[in-house]
Amino acid sequence: ESITDLLDRLCAIVPDYPQPGISFKDLTPVFADPVGLRRMVDELIAPFEGRFDIVAGLEARGFVLAAAAAYASGKGMLTIRKAGKLPREVYRDEYTLEYGSGCLEMHRDEIAPGTRVLILDDVLATGGTVGSAVRLVEMTGAVVAGIGVVLELDGLEGRAKLDGHEVVSLQLVH
Ligand code: IMP
Repeated sequence: ESITDLLDRLCAIVPDYPQPGISFKDLTPVFADPVGLRRMVDELIAPFEGRFDIVAGLEARGFVLAAAAAYASGKGMLTIRKAGKLPREVYRDEYTLEYGSGCLEMHRDEIAPGTRVLILDDVLATGGTVGSAVRLVEMTGAVVAGIGVVLELDGLEGRAKLDGHEVVSLQLVH
């Protein structure tokens, strides 16, 4: 089975969630499936093999992917979290979303300058969230090795916001 067939089969589409008009892609059934989880993680790591030193996950679904990817590739993991959750000194990045704003933070002392970071999340929509993670990684002096997402929503120009960084998505959804 191809990864796109697997995702078509297992990903749940929830109409009008979290707001009317939004068609929410719910990957939790893929996380819950033993083959689904393994395939997703393996296919996110493979394109970046040998080119990253650590994996960063975005709260919260990105944690699932990043922890599994880090373990599978023998690396460590960084948690990039919503504001106010990390207990020590952080870098902070505020960004605007279609409706409202967001804020992500990352501990200052967990990576050395020059470290090659693979950023993982479940869904790339407008690119606001991953764009913020890119800025945080760069604030530390580390280098973004690449960005991996399971689903990329078509037509939102998310990729364009990630100027020049290599983005791998396992499936483009309309
Ligand atoms: P962006 O910042 O607009 O690219 O939105 C991406 C963020 O919102 C990611 O952290 C996703 O987890 C979440 N997100 C946006 N749309 C969906 C969806 O359809 N399903 C699951 N998560 C989504």
